[in-house]
Amino acid sequence: MIVVVATSNQHKLEELQALVSSHGLDVDLQSMQQLGVSVNVEETGTSFEENAYIKAKTIFDLTGVPTLADDSGLEVDALDGRPGVYSARFSGPHATDASNRNHLRAELAERLLTTSSARFRCILCYVDEYRTLFGEGACEGTVQTHDAGEHGFGYDPQFVPAGFDKTFAQLGSEAKQSMSHRALAVTHLSAQLNRLLNSEPPVVPSIDMTELVVSAAIAAARNDQAAIARWTKLASSSETLRLALYETLLQSYLFGGFPTALDALTTFSAVNGELQTSSPPTADVHNNAVFYKRGRELCARVYGSVYPKMMDRLSAITPDLSDWMILEGYGKTLSRPGLSTILRELAIVAMLANYKREQQLISHVRGAQNVGATAAQLETCYALVYEQCSESSARLLRDTINRFAQVST
Ligand code: IMP
Repeated sequence: MIVVVATSNQHKLEELQALVSSHGLDVDLQSMQQLGVSVNVEETGTSFEENAYIKAKTIFDLTGVPTLADDSGLEVDALDGRPGVYSARFSGPHATDASNRNHLRAELAERLLTTSSARFRCILCYVDEYRTLFGEGACEGTVQTHDAGEHGFGYDPQFVPAGFDKTFAQLGSEAKQSMSHRALAVTHLSAQLNRLLNSEPPVVPSIDMTELVVSAAIAAARNDQAAIARWTKLASSSETLRLALYETLLQSYLFGGFPTALDALTTFSAVNGELQTSSPPTADVHNNAVFYKRGRELCARVYGSVYPKMMDRLSAITPDLSDWMILEGYGKTLSRPGLSTILRELAIVAMLANYKREQQLISHVRGAQNVGATAAQLETCYALVYEQCSESSARLLRDTINRFAQVST
């Protein structure tokens, strides 16, 4: 099977090729250049997962060839996890590996440090017509201010893996390949890929993703377990749909409360069995700095220009809840991979319409638009609320869309 690698970083391509063949996968990794594709995908995500997904999905949509993307970077503890997803651009838009290392050196020196604990993190994302799979890996170690060694790329001359006294650049490629974040991510992903290569492609029912997500959100809000079971069956033959449905039901706890989500997911797992393959990576599970950062960024996107005022007002009323909103809501839950931000917002709109929460509904109708939902998607959302919720819920959503959504196509 041919798989295109969505990267223009030759070093990553070479490392991935070596790793994939050492895992005995019957996969021929090709560069974008070999397939005649030259496009620079903008990494607009705020997490490794999101960026890996954006890269893989963009190149898959362009080529129609199964695609593998890598998003990786260095998290330095003394810098509160930076540069993280910005590792490639740490020293600015025209960064080179050398200028990034200089920048890291300078930031550590500013803090009077010569070393700091750190880790490389890598998320791989595989996308084909039927599935989205993730593999994750992390390699703990220490970064030092001085460069040592000639091998590798990026921050390799500054990174000493735990248990060693030499940098990746001194240890060389064989040693690096035996323990690196990328090697671990390939191991994680290859188990899933192996299963996939040995199975027939599933028959995918033609379900509209917006309809699935919005209807499932409404079913969760209304505690309609029969409807959740129906949607779960319909989504069961496609990994992408199943994951989207799972994410919709999971995030329902933010608006419908824990029992709502628990009941819905109990039905989901009874019909579906365990979520088999691409349950999202849990690499960031304990990293609150990452959650705060991506939570603030996502919340600011959703609220747009009113974000600072809204946060001031909320933290004056309840600093606890405003904290949870960023950390738990936007940081941990709504920025998970597996479901786009637009669909997450539409699911929220539908739940709020069902509960007739007028003020929040206004915020999220605007929020859906702020993150890129089209007028047509909001109309689909309305049509489903009209069909599945009470008349007064539908009327409230109609009025809110008419009053607060600017006209867009
Ligand atoms: P991106 O995944 O294209 O956003 O870039 C990741 C950046 O993280 C690279 O440009 C490197 O600076 C750094 N990086 C990721 N993996 C490694 C590695 O294995 N060694 C050294 N630097 C790495």
